Amino acid sequence: MSTEPTAAGPSAATTVVGVIGDPVAHSLSPRLHNAAFAALGIDWVSVGFPVADGSAPEALAGARALGIRGLSVTMPHKTAVAGLVDRLTPLAERLGAVNCVSVEDGELVGGSTDGPGLVSALRRADGFDPAGARCLVVGAGGAGRAVVAALADAGAAEVVVVNRTAARGEAAAALAGPVGRYGGPADAAAADLVVNATPAGMGGSGDGEGGGWALDPSGLVGGQLVVDLVYHPAVTPWLEAAARQGARVHNGLGMLVHQAALQLEWWTGLEAPVGVLWRSVGGGAPG
Ligand code: NAP
Repeated sequence: MSTEPTAAGPSAATTVVGVIGDPVAHSLSPRLHNAAFAALGIDWVSVGFPVADGSAPEALAGARALGIRGLSVTMPHKTAVAGLVDRLTPLAERLGAVNCVSVEDGELVGGSTDGPGLVSALRRADGFDPAGARCLVVGAGGAGRAVVAALADAGAAEVVVVNRTAARGEAAAALAGPVGRYGGPADAAAADLVVNATPAGMGGSGDGEGGGWALDPSGLVGGQLVVDLVYHPAVTPWLEAAARQGARVHNGLGMLVHQAALQLEWWTGLEAPVGVLWRSVGGGAPG
């Protein structure tokens, strides 16, 4: 694997990584990683591989055969790939999902950088350390589960999960171990950090009282840090409503940037140029 600088673009010596998903053309991973590779001056390239649902086994076999160094993994493959790699990191094993594969001497290792990515983003973009904090996560899908586990691992005092489907919410809360608890919307007022890990904030408030949202923002209070994992639109109607309550608000761009940074660091062993990653996706937050 060459880490030599190149001025001539990809060649036969270039180290290749990519993203698998369906659809994949919208994925920002190649843009993020290629900007960072250029800034680091290393001969690596990232491309998108459209892989249909159910075809992850062939994609992984191909990656191994072709000497592809790493894969970002997006929908619908995150759970399937966890069952196909040779080894999982402890976090990916706990989640039963991967968003990243590192190919190490032909061995496929599955990892998960989404949750740690959010924690890095909170620390670097807002100076918020989850250690000792009371956190509330709305949503218990892949993103919510990753965030719940990462907040607990970062030392949160409490991680309360609120979810439309109680059984999924309870399972997600269990990922936080002794600090995890399944709760309800009324718990939001006591939280230092509230994370919306549902797509529901993109819509309107439904019945006018937050009925269309997964968590009614009128239950939020001034001074809280509130994150909506959605980043398109940059400010969802839900996040806008949270800001009106006096919360400090962030969208999901920081999580996107930092999960990509952690993937790059895992593959290359180099420190990611986080400011470059931010700028590559039009973000203006501090690196
Ligand atoms: P997912 O696995 O499909 O889970 C969706 C979650 O949202 C479930 O808990 C679901 O509740 C809940 N939900 C969906 N619609 C709802 C509604 N109308 N009212 C209340 N709850 C609702 O999706 P995911 O992969 O976790 O993604 C969740 C969000 O995070 C998406 O908006 C995605 O774009 C975003 N995301 C952002 C990043 C980033 O880097 N910033 C990364 C990953 C995901 P039930 O369990 O009851 O179905």
